[in-house]
Amino acid sequence: MHYDLIIVGCGAMGAATLYQAAKKGAKVLGIDQFDPPHALGSTHGETRITRLAVGEGPEYFPLVKRSHEIWEEITAQTGTQLLYLSGLLTIAPKDGTGAGHFGDFVSLSAKVAAQYGLDVTRMTAAEVREKFPLINPTEADNALLDPNGGVVAVDHAVAAQLQLATQLGADLLRNTAVTSIEGNTVNVAGQSFTADKIVNTTGAWVKSWLPKSQADYFRVTRQTIYWFAADDLAAFMPDVFPGILWPGYHEDDYLGAFPVLPGGTPGFKVLTERREFAYDPDTVPREVPQSEIDDFVNVVMKDRILGLNLTKCLKAKVCLYTDTPDEHFIIDWHPENKNMLVVSPCSGHGFKHSAAIGESIAQWMLDGKSKIDLSAFQWKN
Ligand SMILES: Cc1cc2nc3c(=O)[nH]c(=O)nc-3n(C[C@H](O)[C@H](O)[C@H](O)COP(=O)(O)OP(=O)(O)OC[C@H]3O[C@@H](n4cnc5c(N)ncnc54)[C@H](O)[C@@H]3O)c2cc1C
Repeated sequence: MHYDLIIVGCGAMGAATLYQAAKKGAKVLGIDQFDPPHALGSTHGETRITRLAVGEGPEYFPLVKRSHEIWEEITAQTGTQLLYLSGLLTIAPKDGTGAGHFGDFVSLSAKVAAQYGLDVTRMTAAEVREKFPLINPTEADNALLDPNGGVVAVDHAVAAQLQLATQLGADLLRNTAVTSIEGNTVNVAGQSFTADKIVNTTGAWVKSWLPKSQADYFRVTRQTIYWFAADDLAAFMPDVFPGILWPGYHEDDYLGAFPVLPGGTPGFKVLTERREFAYDPDTVPREVPQSEIDDFVNVVMKDRILGLNLTKCLKAKVCLYTDTPDEHFIIDWHPENKNMLVVSPCSGHGFKHSAAIGESIAQWMLDGKSKIDLSAFQWKN
């Protein structure tokens, strides 16, 4: 069977690409080794932070802005709310000494907001505590509130896009691993398909499709998401509680916090980032020992968010980052297969852009050019 486009991997990026390509009327096939949305890649755990004031750089703004529009369009079609504009609060040391790549992330985010004329509010720690009594920054912190930020219901977003794609005529093979790709041919056990173009959105598995020098550009790291019991869950709902991006003073005390969505796990979701060790996605330890939960509470939570029962972890899940050295995305042709686009936007901040990345890839592959400029995401090695 021949297709206009085959998408290998149907998580965040693949589901969005499949949907957008089907919407354009293309003959398109999506293949995933598991049954997306699933909990073995990088796109699970109910929610992802989104914000228009993207401190990672101005090149990201058109992607997140368009993604918000697409999620609202999908909600109008499916009735499933995907985007919750609870507001997004970035808290960071006011002297600019935030850990790792974050640096002065409040100022970086404010700069992007100023460039695009976005409505944001800079806040002192005292102003944060007054507006959000359960959020407890120290006097050494400052903050930026982005009212057009919040969270996206991540598993629902993948499910909705796959559902719409198949309704529009896309073929989708679930629980089917792609075993090899040769030129325009995609092989699975016992079957082969051809396509004009192939899009490789295999997330944490992308390394296995690349020659060594490009594979070495990516590093898969193990991240853990925790849900803790709260004294009053209603106080953490998106109408009163924002998403929080809170890089601390050290590499190991980054805190991300997520308002509680209706119908989700009845607990408050928090996470940190750990990048010390690299893992293989097929063998990464998936269980979360109590010692890891204790370490998270002691090192990361301290008393930064009030109203939680930190002795009661309701659930913990492992999720995978696929990092690049500068933490920017790669969206570029495979170095040895000029019919295959490699789409690897992660480094812990990719989901918020995924709907527009899918649309842009579909435009690029089917029309020859995307409306949003993706040239910032070419190979750097
Ligand atoms: C803990 C955590 C927190 C995060 N927080 C945020 C956040 O707050 N905001 C934000 O914007 N981003 C965030 N991110 C990043 C974001 O979630 C990722 O950028 C995004 O989910 C990556 O999507 P993907 O499509 O590349 O990977 P995935 O969704 O994992 O998709 C890859 C797919 O490829 C399939 N696949 C692999 N190999 C094969 C094969 N051989 N054959 C067939 N199928 C194959 C896999 O089964 C999988 O379904 C976070 C990530 C994690 C892990």
